[in-house]
Amino acid sequence: MLYCENCQVLSRDGKTCPVCGGKKLRPVRPDDPVLLITVGEEESARISAAFQDAAIPCFAQAQGAGSVLSILGGQPRSTARRVFVPFGEVEHAREVLIGIGALKEGASAKPPEPEREEQPMSRGRRAAARIFFAVVFLAVIWIVVYFCDILAGYLKSLFH
Ligand SMILES: [Zn+2]
Repeated sequence: MLYCENCQVLSRDGKTCPVCGGKKLRPVRPDDPVLLITVGEEESARISAAFQDAAIPCFAQAQGAGSVLSILGGQPRSTARRVFVPFGEVEHAREVLIGIGALKEGASAKPPEPEREEQPMSRGRRAAARIFFAVVFLAVIWIVVYFCDILAGYLKSLFH
């Protein structure tokens, strides 16, 4: 397992950091803090308490501005907390999360994928719809003009 020291996350592909894309990775050490889960403020308090009971050192960090989500244009989610635990405690922490119902059995302890933002997608869809209607509109005009030509030719033939 390789680890990005800057972002405190594990590399999934073993080559680059999933957050910063950096290649300055090193093998993870048991005491390295890793991003376990991103949760709401209340959930993070509940998780921290459960970890304290289980003697797992952890810390929660506010999902601040400048994080990867913000750069991607997401809503500022000031209430989101990123919960870190030492790498050596990840499996134990996962069991605790499952125990308190914060994580479903069999789910990965890895942080969720950054959410795909609704805004650019719906904007893209709106643009596609606009192009579609423009094409339909042109096609209708073309059909009308075409049939007018035929009609005009027919009418002309009647009078000659
Ligand atoms: Zn990184």
